[in-house]
Amino acid sequence: MRFELSPELTQMREALRKFVRAELEPLEKGIDASGELPPQVLPLLGKHGYLAMRLPVEVGGAGMGLFPYCLMLEEFSRSHRIFGLIASGGGGLTPIAIARHGTPEQRHKYLTGLMKGTMRTAFALTEPAGGSDNSAMTTRADKVEGGWVIHGRKHYINGAHEADFIVVIAITDPVKRTRGGVTAFLVDRGTPGFNITRVDTTMGSDVIKLAEIELDNCKVPDSAVLGNAGQGFDLAKGSLRDGRMAVSCSCIGTADRMLEMSAQYAKTRVTFGKPLAERQAIQWMLADSEVDLVAARAMVYETLRQIDAGVDVGTAPSVCKLYCSEMVGRVADRAVQIHGGMGIVQGYPIERMYRDVRHYRIGEGSSEIQRMLIARDVLKRTS
Ligand SMILES: Cc1cc2nc3c(=O)[nH]c(=O)nc-3n(C[C@H](O)[C@H](O)[C@H](O)COP(=O)(O)OP(=O)(O)OC[C@H]3O[C@@H](n4cnc5c(N)ncnc54)[C@H](O)[C@@H]3O)c2cc1C
Repeated sequence: MRFELSPELTQMREALRKFVRAELEPLEKGIDASGELPPQVLPLLGKHGYLAMRLPVEVGGAGMGLFPYCLMLEEFSRSHRIFGLIASGGGGLTPIAIARHGTPEQRHKYLTGLMKGTMRTAFALTEPAGGSDNSAMTTRADKVEGGWVIHGRKHYINGAHEADFIVVIAITDPVKRTRGGVTAFLVDRGTPGFNITRVDTTMGSDVIKLAEIELDNCKVPDSAVLGNAGQGFDLAKGSLRDGRMAVSCSCIGTADRMLEMSAQYAKTRVTFGKPLAERQAIQWMLADSEVDLVAARAMVYETLRQIDAGVDVGTAPSVCKLYCSEMVGRVADRAVQIHGGMGIVQGYPIERMYRDVRHYRIGEGSSEIQRMLIARDVLKRTS
């Protein structure tokens, strides 16, 4: 089933697919072998304008809506997962928060480099005491003359070890806590008291790394506050809607590529004198993955269309994120099965994608948290 997109979005998807095939797919093997992102990739994305799509025109961005941005992530995610991750870090949620809430100095200092791909950022909310339950966080910032002193520890922060600056979320009013007592700080790499104490590789490709950060007497100036003091939790939560839609589209992109590869393989692999594609058992797996993908696209594209039209979509992003992150796991499992031994041999994309997609059910709010939010909404609606 094909979805009718507007002529602009159709044209954009075609250009993106060409770009991904020509520029990104050839890098996949090297990235897996080295566990490193080639340094030219971010500036290349910047050069093509992919890191500035959602930023307002007045700061040099393209001022596009969430739908085109998510379509870009879908296409990038047909290749290596890292491309979607760096595009959503540099090109997405943190820059938008800076564009919306930053001072003119902060915009000037950070946005140009982020849009060009010469600067990297990370977002540090999760910590040992507060994962799904962010309200249990203990990292705090105390007001001092001319600035703030941050103490605490953050972990599982994607890309923090390579970031030029990090958005750190900390408690600034221990009484109000998440009800107006949390602040976001822009902390530059090299600030005394800011240390990366551990870098973990994750299940999936080695290039995706999560860092632990120690903030020990880390003094930042007043000018490091993003938005108003006390607004940090709203700022972090404010990006959740877009983050969930971004993950949903990334899942769709990876699932689409795996289905395409499975169909191609099934046509060429002959067993017992016939291609796999002629076996009903294999056809049913392809059909089930197609149905999964059609359902995912239907809910995601409609939600994106409504968001860009200014509709309050409620818990729809949770519905999309939950469905898509579980859908891509099912599609990956079938893709491995169809590829047989080739599906589990390292060095082939299917094996890497199978491992890579597992974390979609944990990051940006786990499946359990999405179910909790959706159920809460259902119960409220029916009372
Ligand atoms: C690839 C990846 C990248 C990430 N990048 C970042 C980043 O850049 N910045 C950042 O701040 N964080 C990041 N995270 C952290 C992520 O947001 C957390 O891992 C997530 O919020 C879950 O927190 P936790 O790991 O502490 O699990 P926990 O909160 O300890 O949960 C453990 C399990 O219990 C379940 N659970 C928790 N509470 C309930 C409940 N009330 N009812 C039922 N089940 C429950 C959870 O769903 C989960 O299955 C990243 C995570 C991943 C996997």
